[in-house]
Amino acid sequence: MKYVSTRGEAPDLNFEEVLLTGLARDGGLYLPETWPQISHDQIKAMAGQSYQEIAFTVMSPYVCPEIPEDDFKGLIEKAYSSFRHDAITPLSQLDTNEWILELFHGPTLAFKDVALQLLGNLFEYVLTKNGEKITIVGATSGDTGSAAIDCVQGSDHAQIFMLHPKGRVSDVQRKQMTTVIEDNVHNIAIEGDFDHCQALVKALFNDLEFRDEINLSAVNSINWARVMAQIVYYFTSAVALGAPDKKVSFSVPTGNFGDVYAGYIAKQMGLPIDQLVVATNVNDILSRTIKSGEYKVGETIPTISPSMDIQVSSNFERLLYNVYDGSGDDIRALMNGLNQSGQFNISDEALGNTKAIFDAERVSEENTKKTIGDVFKGSGQVVDPHTAVGIHAARNNWKNKAVPMVSLSTAHPAKFPEAVKEVTGTHPELPPHMADLFDRPEKFDVLKNDMTILKAYIRDNL
Ligand SMILES: *Cc1c(COP(=O)(O)O)cnc(C)c1O
Repeated sequence: MKYVSTRGEAPDLNFEEVLLTGLARDGGLYLPETWPQISHDQIKAMAGQSYQEIAFTVMSPYVCPEIPEDDFKGLIEKAYSSFRHDAITPLSQLDTNEWILELFHGPTLAFKDVALQLLGNLFEYVLTKNGEKITIVGATSGDTGSAAIDCVQGSDHAQIFMLHPKGRVSDVQRKQMTTVIEDNVHNIAIEGDFDHCQALVKALFNDLEFRDEINLSAVNSINWARVMAQIVYYFTSAVALGAPDKKVSFSVPTGNFGDVYAGYIAKQMGLPIDQLVVATNVNDILSRTIKSGEYKVGETIPTISPSMDIQVSSNFERLLYNVYDGSGDDIRALMNGLNQSGQFNISDEALGNTKAIFDAERVSEENTKKTIGDVFKGSGQVVDPHTAVGIHAARNNWKNKAVPMVSLSTAHPAKFPEAVKEVTGTHPELPPHMADLFDRPEKFDVLKNDMTILKAYIRDNL
């Protein structure tokens, strides 16, 4: 498979290069040149197959034969052996035709493990083969950090520097990152919000000299392989609910637009998805944009679903590229506008293409809490605030009740215990492998929101 940049001015790359590159050198994001098609018969054959088997069918067109098929199968097996549930991403029923897809059974209790456990194994495989070393720098609104650290901790080939906004991630989230004491792991609390952290990482990527000096690589969802790994669970869950003969709808709690974009790709590959609901918290740049066509950056507001407290949504650029029919020139123009004035307007045609596929909803803090309570009363299920955002948007936007609605459950409730306890009265317990989390010592440094200081810190620690 050949990969192209959304801004049309960076060299085309193959899968291994895309895996290690992260952001394209023209500032764009990489995408496969075409969407491989999974036929009706192929989807039918997935009935009764394991997560790992379906994962291979869905991802191999992007990866093989560059990575030989048997090697890739081995990497998939290894990646998902760290999950605590044999189904990897089980469905759970809330009501008639209403489901949640539990994506939090990996080592760090959020959906990001599904992609990052595979990414860690892919990195190790390619770097070992090439005798190469990389420096990963990432920004996290909470969950990417621990999932990324877990997937590369102890590696001889990768150093990881993880930036989180100081005081703006939950205690569990911070502890999961800062209690990993391997020498190749460097945690940094930035004095700022998540968008500041993300801007620092983007600036490092755009500093081409520094980028080459440290062999910089990304684990944020700007990395194509992450988006790719997330396509799989749309297939596994839809097949379990009757696809390809029946349609299925999804509601996705959204921040950086990676997870819901993977659903868009599943649809492009042939999965019969009826609705895709983009669910945001009050940091609603995406729901506003999809409704009005105006992409306008605002202030980030801290919420009880902090992993979605985002105003600049990286992966949305990939969708723009698709709804502008692959015109790198148009995307460059939009992104220049964004840099200059903090906003841009989507053309009527491109907006029409977007609305044909996505519904969108902004969910208030009040409705998020109410939904945690409603779900607890209705089914006894305890859901985390991110999941509740998705469920609320699902219930408000569900057009055809004969089509199953699946809300993506992106985090284990024990990751956000305060909000859950406030509403349900019960304190969700951490699973046994993390029960002593609060007794483990922490290691991290605090840095100003300053590119020069960050670069010096990275050089000193390599
Ligand atoms: C990262 C995250 C999200 C948002 O996912 P995106 O791919 O950034 O849209 C939602 N919920 C949780 C728990 C997360 O960690």
